[in-house]
Parts: sequence; C-alpha cells; structure tokens
Amino acid sequence: MNKEEFIDYLNRINITVTEEGLNKFETYKNLLQEYNQKFNLTSITEDKSIYLKHFYDSLYLLTLKETQEASTILDIGTGAGFPGIPLSIMLPNTQITLVESNTKKCGFLNIVKEKLNLKNIEIINKRAEDYTKEKREYFDIVTSRAVANLKILLELEIPSLKTNGYFLPLKSNIEEEIKDSQNIIKNLSVDIEKIIKYTLTIENSNRTILKIKKLQKTNPKYPREYSKILKDK
Ligand code: SAM
Repeated sequence: MNKEEFIDYLNRINITVTEEGLNKFETYKNLLQEYNQKFNLTSITEDKSIYLKHFYDSLYLLTLKETQEASTILDIGTGAGFPGIPLSIMLPNTQITLVESNTKKCGFLNIVKEKLNLKNIEIINKRAEDYTKEKREYFDIVTSRAVANLKILLELEIPSLKTNGYFLPLKSNIEEEIKDSQNIIKNLSVDIEKIIKYTLTIENSNRTILKIKKLQKTNPKYPREYSKILKDK
C-alpha cells in the first residue's frame, strides 16, 4: 500500500486523513525505518508494508463509532506504537495512553512524540498488570494488538476500563481464545457484544476486532499476579 492507496483505502472505510495527518504518518514511517535496528522495533520495514500492516491496520479501529467518540484510550503493549500512535494522529483531541514494558521501545515512542508534536499521548514504561492495578475504572476504550491471548488480555485491561466502556482487541483468528476465556469473561462481568471479522485489504489476511463491553466495576482482586494469570491457562 503506497501513500495514495493509503488515502484511497481509508476513504473506502469512511476515514479521511488530513494533509497534516499524512505528513505525520510519513515522518513516523521514516522514524521507524531510521531507528528500527537500534531499538529492535519491527520486522515490517518496507514503506508499503508499514502503511498497510501498521498504519491502515491500526486505523481500522476508527470504523467503530465508540473509538471515534472516546475521550480516553489505553493501548497496552504498544511496542513501536500500534495501534496507539496512528490513533493519536487521527484523534488529536483524545487522550491516548501507551503502556509498554520495554524501556528501549519507550525511548523510541518518546522520539516519535517529540518529532510528531503529539500532545495527546502519554507514554508509560511499565508492565500492564502494574499499571492497571493503580489506574482503574478510567478509560472509555482499551485496546491492544499482538500482545497476549484473550484470556490474559482481559485480566490485564478490563480493570482500567470504565463501566459501559469497550475493550477492542485487534486479533486474527479468535474462536479458540474465546472458548478458553469463558471463566474470566464471567468473573470480570464483560460481554462480547460483537465479533467484527474483516480481511486486511491487498493481502487479504483475516482480521478480527472484538467488541467487548464492561458491564460492571471490576473486583479489586483483578488483575492477579502475572504468574497466577499465566498458571490459569
Ligand atoms: N502492539 C504492537 C504491534 O502490534 O505492533 C507491539 C506488539 S509486540 C509483538 C508485543 C509488545 O507487548 C512488546 O513490545 C512487549 O514488550 C509488550 N508487552 C508484552 N507483555 C506486556 C505487559 N505485560 N505489559 C506491558 N507491555 C507488554
């Protein structure tokens, strides 16, 4: 996907990117390429793949009105910034928090924040389970891409979400993970409202966004210690 296709394919899903936004995406792409080796950021390094597999894929979350209307978004395990940074470029009035345990990657995120002049992001160098223990019942939307299986993600992210807020993980094939998550879904009082399946354009690979609603305040015992969460697998 080149820059023109990026604009065109976003238009097809009713997303418009401004000239200023496009310039930021280009700078971000250049920074990813420049710092990739130093910070060990991503295996996706070609221009066209960055636009498709990182930028366009992250922005698919904007097809949900809940993402567009959110005031606060949390992205756990953001790595080099996905999906959080593309969302922050498109939603300058939304406060976006990026949590990443790897200190080097946070160093890169700070460079991106400065070079793109992103005033709406906060970068937190912590493990998710520590962050969500303290920042509870706060975000309108929580999300993550390629971090852990659903069962683990639910426990790491739901405590930080407001009641009636949505957890929107980006996934590929999800059926097994949903089956494995039934107990924690019940214990955390969440409801899988919708399973949004789509194909990533051009390469036609399968993608899923789960739309998971939080129905009530989370019991303070969650998230448990990480070793405990893992043992439950
Ligand atoms: N979300 C990004 C993407 O889609 O390109 C990065 C995915 S990368 C495969 C997973 C990232 O999650 C890594 O950067 C890792 O350091 C981070 N991570 C894994 N477990 C974490 C945890 N418990 N708390 C915070 N970050 C975590």
